Amino acid sequence: MEYTAVIGLEVHAQLQTDSKIFCGCSTRFGQEPNVNTCPVCLGMPGVLPVLNKRVVDYTLMMGLATHCRIAAESVFARKNYFYPDLPKGYQISQYERPICEEGWVEIPVQGGARKIRITRIHMEEDAGKLVHEGGGGAASLVDLNRAGVPLMEIVSEPDIRSPEEARAYMQTLRDIVVYLGICDGNMEEGSLRCDANISIMPAGSETFGTRTEIKNMNSFRYLAQALEYEIQRQTEVLEDGGRIIQETRLFDSAKGVTASMRGKEEAHDYRYFPEPDLVPIRIDPEWVDRIGAEIPELRSEKIARYVQDLGLPEYDAEVLTGEPGTARFFEDILAHGVEPKKVSNWVMGEYTRLLKDKGMETARISPEQVAGIIRMVDASTVSVSGAKQVFEEVFLTGKDPDAIVREKGLAQVSDEGAIEEEIKAILEANPQQVEQYRDGQEKVLGYFVGQVMKATRGRANPRLVNEILIKKLKGE
Ligand SMILES: [Zn+2]
Repeated sequence: MEYTAVIGLEVHAQLQTDSKIFCGCSTRFGQEPNVNTCPVCLGMPGVLPVLNKRVVDYTLMMGLATHCRIAAESVFARKNYFYPDLPKGYQISQYERPICEEGWVEIPVQGGARKIRITRIHMEEDAGKLVHEGGGGAASLVDLNRAGVPLMEIVSEPDIRSPEEARAYMQTLRDIVVYLGICDGNMEEGSLRCDANISIMPAGSETFGTRTEIKNMNSFRYLAQALEYEIQRQTEVLEDGGRIIQETRLFDSAKGVTASMRGKEEAHDYRYFPEPDLVPIRIDPEWVDRIGAEIPELRSEKIARYVQDLGLPEYDAEVLTGEPGTARFFEDILAHGVEPKKVSNWVMGEYTRLLKDKGMETARISPEQVAGIIRMVDASTVSVSGAKQVFEEVFLTGKDPDAIVREKGLAQVSDEGAIEEEIKAILEANPQQVEQYRDGQEKVLGYFVGQVMKATRGRANPRLVNEILIKKLKGE
């Protein structure tokens, strides 16, 4: 039998604030264990949380960017459970009254786009991290640097129908948070991670099957792999006449399989109740307007604009907008009045290649310098290969392109007289090849071009070389 997958994702995005959600501790990643802690995030008795306003700003921004309804009043709730990385014995989250509800995003699918509905977006605090030391679980250590780091949880409706769509949805959310500048989108460091609810139903059916939940997938590849595995597993269980058990499963990325972790807990297991230590959050229309005005052009909008207004191929638009920094660099060069496709070629080509080869995060070349180098090529001041040499040097040193052209003697010879002299000498030295050309062997032309380039150390303007060569060979 054919089955259709029904998938909903819960995505956790770590918000890029300097301090934690309910205390002033730093959120910096990669610090010594437990240095970023205080009595509040350690859950000491008698302490009180104070809400970081920026967390509300950022979540509100995400809600607006994903077409959510913003609650005029929302409430924090305690989610009670015991775990060694959760010193308070409860997590402060939102439950019945989240800040954002009923939104949607559009994801690219083959030949178009699909709308995936967002159920809710809420704010919560992260837990700490357990480090299991020694063979056979001899000891476990706890690091609470992450406890109290602000998270935004984005819950989708079960609108996703395949692992590819799940991946596209996750990518779309990543693009939005990264462009909004509210999360760094770094999946390896856990800034963006997701859990998936998944069930299967006979193709054409409207009734969802029993679902399982897969926890903690921290890469696009693992997400797709875990879902594919789980669809296959559930299909086999049903084909064998078995039934799916509602449970939480963990994806083992090394083996590429999901394994049962625990029976699925229900919301009532957590004994949610409104957090008595925090007042409700009231958001007036002015606050919403102010945050709405701060939303920049998002990646999907940029892609559409690059294709429609700048005439770039879709592929270029996607590569250039992959990271906001690259798009910004591209647009800054464009501001100097150079042709978009030429800028795109340099940014996607040399610029990206050098960043990667040299292992650099930012180049020393300025947008103005890139525009200048493009103009040099346009004016035939340097050849394309000469321009690449100039580009690399400026990329590494930030030096003036004109000075590099002079120092390296890269200025292209566009002096017709000088080129003609060279060509004359070469033709005289190769009478046999000249004969061959005149007998109709036109491919000898390539040989002569090579000779001229060699004689001028690659600096002769190739267009002129070709023109003059053909003229001379034809005896004009
Ligand atoms: Zn703290």
